Amino acid sequence: MLGVFILRSAPMSASAITANAKDSASRVGSNSFTRLWTRPATLQIESYDLFLNVDFRNLRFDGKVKIKLESETDVKLNSVELEILEVDANGKPVKYNLEGEDFTIKTGKFVGELGIRYRGSISDKLVGLYKAAYEGGYVVSTQFEAVSARRLLPCMDHPAYKADFKLTIRTDSDTSVISNMPSTSVRVDGPRKTVEFPKTPRMSTYLMYLGIGKFEEVKDRFNGVDYIVATVPGKSSGAKFPLDVAKDSVRFFESYFGSKYNLPKLHLIGVPEFAAGAMENWGAITFREIALLVDDDSSIRIRKQVAEVIAHEVSHQWFGDLVTMKWWDDLWLNESFATFMAYKALDSMFPRWVVWQDFVRGETAGALARDSLVNTHPIEVRVNSPTEIEEIFDDISYGKGASIIRMLEAYAGEDEFMHGVRSYLEKYKFSNAAGNDLWNEIERTSKTRVKAIMNDWIRKPGYPVVNVKLDGKKLMIRQHRFLLNGSAEPSSWPVPITLKINGKEQKLLMEKSEESIAVPDGVDSLKLNLEETGFYRVYYEGLYDKVWRSNMSPVDRYGIVSDAYAFAIQGKMDFSQYLALINRYMNEQEYLPAFEVSDQLSSLSTITRSVEETSRKFHRNQLKILANRKDENSVALQGSVASRLALLDMEYAKELSLRFNDYETAEPDMKQAIVVAHARASGDFESLFKNYKNRPSEEEKSRFLIGLTSFNQPSLNSRAMDLASSGEIKKQHVGTLLGSAARNPDARDGTWDWIAQKFEWLRGIYEGTGVLSRYLTYVLPILGIDRTEEVTKFFAKHKAPEIIKGVEAGLEKLRINEAFLRRIGPSQKQMVEVQERR
Ligand SMILES: [Zn+2]
Repeated sequence: MLGVFILRSAPMSASAITANAKDSASRVGSNSFTRLWTRPATLQIESYDLFLNVDFRNLRFDGKVKIKLESETDVKLNSVELEILEVDANGKPVKYNLEGEDFTIKTGKFVGELGIRYRGSISDKLVGLYKAAYEGGYVVSTQFEAVSARRLLPCMDHPAYKADFKLTIRTDSDTSVISNMPSTSVRVDGPRKTVEFPKTPRMSTYLMYLGIGKFEEVKDRFNGVDYIVATVPGKSSGAKFPLDVAKDSVRFFESYFGSKYNLPKLHLIGVPEFAAGAMENWGAITFREIALLVDDDSSIRIRKQVAEVIAHEVSHQWFGDLVTMKWWDDLWLNESFATFMAYKALDSMFPRWVVWQDFVRGETAGALARDSLVNTHPIEVRVNSPTEIEEIFDDISYGKGASIIRMLEAYAGEDEFMHGVRSYLEKYKFSNAAGNDLWNEIERTSKTRVKAIMNDWIRKPGYPVVNVKLDGKKLMIRQHRFLLNGSAEPSSWPVPITLKINGKEQKLLMEKSEESIAVPDGVDSLKLNLEETGFYRVYYEGLYDKVWRSNMSPVDRYGIVSDAYAFAIQGKMDFSQYLALINRYMNEQEYLPAFEVSDQLSSLSTITRSVEETSRKFHRNQLKILANRKDENSVALQGSVASRLALLDMEYAKELSLRFNDYETAEPDMKQAIVVAHARASGDFESLFKNYKNRPSEEEKSRFLIGLTSFNQPSLNSRAMDLASSGEIKKQHVGTLLGSAARNPDARDGTWDWIAQKFEWLRGIYEGTGVLSRYLTYVLPILGIDRTEEVTKFFAKHKAPEIIKGVEAGLEKLRINEAFLRRIGPSQKQMVEVQERR
């Protein structure tokens, strides 16, 4: 039994409260906050025994749940949209009261079994037990995280109230029923059947799973565990790759965590309609189809994504399911840890992918960019009610969190970190824990000051830039907060610094804002932040020639150019100096630095045409370098480079579009580029749209969708946007379309006009999610160029609470972009005009 009175580990820092004053401070201290966030010791739940009679055809269910518990007072449970019919306590009828989501049963002090009879409907939203349709039928499937278990059964829907769950399901005999455990008995009587599942281990309510439908299954058995991929009819041919990745992930984590996978089977279920990417229900993981199934036409990009998502969800079977956070404000830890661990598993399963390079480019770089704005927030923010979780979990909570954990591992030592994690899982298994419990264990095994370091990084917004300068026989290093708008904020962090001077590696923990290192022999070569494990930027004052002399790895070379880009946008580095630095990468041979330079030049191309020539030259060089390489990273990079060049260079687009006739036999990673080239060269709207409509695979649809906003005639791009708002394009694809339109300078004006006109419609399709807010952060800094005032005024007039944060960040970045464009000067502006007249 659990029984301890759980409090959050430490009070929130002052800076955290200030940074978030606008959105959450006013709610701190409300009654519902206190009640939800603590776990009253007055209630202990032992088990749920649930019988559910599901009317699959009419989308309804009747339930009877027996809950064994002990309570000091009236029992308080949660229930949403359920019709309560009858409640008894140890067999005797008892009074109850339903108010909002609070379901109070007037037991007084009580030990024993509550029985609740109730009724409910299968939802057409994407939470609770909901209907997920596919061509020719539907399945019903559950999504409970964070607070929707209470839509299927009355329960104490709080992660710290773990219990055993026993399920019995009665439904149509021509369906299959999936839950966390494998079924132990099936009794068929005519058109109906009853399926029984044995008791689960102790777990949180949000991890329970139920799926019913005509599932097609592919099975494998390994090391005493059944692995099963379940899909809707006709899709199971994509199951081999995910099965292999799941088996290898379990094998990796059993060895890393030093503990066996706890259930007799592991289902991977492709759900045809799904709000998130995937969900780690214990023993029954659900996925969007594009995040699970892989066939011969899948690109390497998609294979990598599928493998990452599976490894992420499998790691949750321990970190999240076996040991669970006490309350949702530690969800960041759950997610950051799974993000980090997924790359660890992939690195061992697919060494040829060198996935840590994708990690720094994908997870760390995104977080560094987002967290360099004044409009950011600390990783750890108190959540006052579960619904607020949606608002705060973004690039910062996931990408920054995972990067900080990687920095911690590098500081504490790989083995010491692993032993800390093992002992944390052993100590808290089948129970709950908080961030500090993990830091304590790693602190013990590594004998380093983990807690002090982590608390600072988690509770302060932003991150430092470390300035390095040579002063006689001393290397001076200074830190302050890095802000992209160029303002200086004297803030400091405990920074684990790694550096290499004259080929010799050193480590130090920088705790003050300034430190000096003696260099009696002078400095010939120098590099800080080795392998980019630290979450900070480095500026070398007058020392870049020494940096080039150090023997840098591809990741180190990536770090130099990645930081330089941020300094150029910020104004700390002169634009001509930045371009000179880019010149050093003109014939880059390595995957990560080449991908980064491609990313940078493509981003710059969305706001200025002054880098067009440089970008064309760089991308053409890359195609030559990559032409004969067959390794998967080179093939994937080649696809991206070709797409970007097609958007930039009509000559190349014409040449590549000839391959559109042989599209079906093209290499999967080149297909996107061929579609973009075809759009540029032909303006063939009709055929691209027909392909989008008719192709069944989600990856294929996405390729043609991107083609539809890659035209060089603005009117055609606008036509695609209009199809989206007239319902011709699936709602879940609107975001892809918007992102791709923002990357095409020929679509810029039309896309802004479309957002302004269709704003209320856009709000409507993303209602209740943080999605529109995140899209606006991304597109406003591009679409707002040359119309800052108009865009600012528009959002001053259209204030919608769910997008305020995203708009503020987007407008801040827009002002930074405008300042950058002014700085790079009138000659550059002229160039833009000349190019446009051409
Ligand atoms: Zn996760």
